[in-house]
Amino acid sequence: MSKITIIGSGPSGVHFALSLLKKGHLVEMIDVGYSGAPPVNPEDSFNELKENLEDPVKYFLGENFEAVVGTDSASVYEFPPHKQYIFKNPEDYDVELHGFEPHLSFARGGLAEAWTGGSYSFNDNDLEDFPFGYSDIEPFYNEISDRIGLIGVEDDLSRFFPYHKNLLPPLDLDENSQLLFNVYEKKKDKLNKNLGMYLGRSRIATLSKDHGSRKKCDYSGRCQWGCPSDSLYVPTITLNECLGHKNFKYIPGILIKHFNYDSNNRITAIIGFDVVKKVEKVFKVDTLALAAGTLASSRIFLESFLKNEGKIVKLPGLMDNRQILAPFINLKMIGKQFNPDSYQYHQLAVGIDTEDPKNYIHGQITTLKTGMMQPPFQSMPLDFKTGIYLGRYLHSSLGVVNINFSDSRRDDNYLTLSQNKEGSTKLIINYNPPVGEDKTIKFSLKKIGKFFGKLGAVVPMFQVQLRPMGASVHYSGTIPMSESGDSLTVSPNCRSNDFSNLYIVDGSTFPFLPSKNITFSLMANAARIAEVEF
Ligand SMILES: Cc1cc2nc3c(=O)[nH]c(=O)nc-3n(C[C@H](O)[C@H](O)[C@H](O)COP(=O)(O)OP(=O)(O)OC[C@H]3O[C@@H](n4cnc5c(N)ncnc54)[C@H](O)[C@@H]3O)c2cc1C
Ligand code: SF4
Repeated sequence: MSKITIIGSGPSGVHFALSLLKKGHLVEMIDVGYSGAPPVNPEDSFNELKENLEDPVKYFLGENFEAVVGTDSASVYEFPPHKQYIFKNPEDYDVELHGFEPHLSFARGGLAEAWTGGSYSFNDNDLEDFPFGYSDIEPFYNEISDRIGLIGVEDDLSRFFPYHKNLLPPLDLDENSQLLFNVYEKKKDKLNKNLGMYLGRSRIATLSKDHGSRKKCDYSGRCQWGCPSDSLYVPTITLNECLGHKNFKYIPGILIKHFNYDSNNRITAIIGFDVVKKVEKVFKVDTLALAAGTLASSRIFLESFLKNEGKIVKLPGLMDNRQILAPFINLKMIGKQFNPDSYQYHQLAVGIDTEDPKNYIHGQITTLKTGMMQPPFQSMPLDFKTGIYLGRYLHSSLGVVNINFSDSRRDDNYLTLSQNKEGSTKLIINYNPPVGEDKTIKFSLKKIGKFFGKLGAVVPMFQVQLRPMGASVHYSGTIPMSESGDSLTVSPNCRSNDFSNLYIVDGSTFPFLPSKNITFSLMANAARIAEVEF
């Protein structure tokens, strides 16, 4: 039986693998695969952890207080010390950045080991530039929902992200979110009509019912530190499912550098580097699938042209969602006690209509429970004592809206390589925001300010944070799906137009980036490719 070799164990790779395994294929997965420690004291809640751990300061803040962050880039959810392995890069993985600050992951499970689970189906407007429509991908959204466990309800936001099968009932809302929701319900006709804004439940990859060996969320408040009961989905759950198939082989510890191809442009082997033993490793290939995440997959693709033909190629069209963090204070919550036994991440989302429905603006609303208080307070002009006092007084009333804009492929946003005299290479990432972005930012902040005002909350505009490009971690667009058959593109089913036995199954192939978080569509598309091509 011929085998399919997949590079990467992130959401794209594991769902592609599982679909292939279910169809009886032989699958090999090669991964750098850095891994972390299992959850500590799995039965404890957030507060119990603080009491029961021998050294809670080390756990929450790190040996060298590395989780205490500066004001510039700090969001409510910074990465705790024991999750740093997710963002560790192999030695000599050189990258040169121009206008882009990416996160790369070489972890077992990839970047989504740190995600917040927002999972939204794309509608026909979002898919306008894709070679398929919603009805083509809907069965795969249904399938992935069933695999990962996805909460979602049919509400005012279903006009933006279609309601599909296999959605779980919602979790209880925390008090702050519930208050916002109640006021919205009373005023929604006017808010919809006057502001073109809608509020509803966010779709989250978290269990409200037991799912196999995974337990439903028990509101322990530990989401940011890693869910100990696997209620919050992470890709290693699917990797473990793949490991239960006899046709599956997982090879961690290998950084793939490039592939070799013959005169018919058929890939014959992949060349890797053992990151532990520091030696080169060569693997024979029948069919290759790149699922290393857009930046790393594109790099393997670029390095292969350089190694085989001495060509430096440029891949235009890099996309990422611009994100703005707009904090708010819910006036009705001021002075109230926050409840640490709450689900920690977003439970509400907000949608803003725009003239062109393709450019719908999407926001996730996170109220502050056990998340770090320090980032929002550090940027206030307060002394330490006042900061602590106000922090306690305002804690339960705080929240943040994470606003996302769509992005489109443009030639001046690209990936390429540079090579020095000794032959070592650097990935060059170049990004310029779209013309007119200021207007979109102003438009959405004005709406958000008014909308939250009507809900009884204040958005202090001086605290709004424009995140750098790269911060949304929704990289895509460098080797797009196309019906053209052109070089440096893939077919509608993501088969390379340059190499007949190569598939690209991550975000590299997306020809447009809607404002909705991308990962659910990455998983659904990977399952789609496995179904239609193998
Ligand atoms: C804090 C945070 C919050 C997020 N929240 C959300 C959210 O709410 N909703 C959402 O949709 N998305 C979210 N994301 C984004 C999401 O994590 C990514 O979209 C997703 O992980 C991309 O999946 P991928 O499989 O394509 O690649 P990755 O997750 O990047 O996985 C890449 C895999 O490839 C391997 N690899 C890379 N290069 C090589 C190589 N050369 N050789 C061998 N192996 C290699 C890595 O080890 C890894 O296993 C979030 C991300 C972060 C960091
Ligand atoms: S999802 Fe969060 S709140 Fe729910 S059980 Fe897991 S860590 Fe606890």
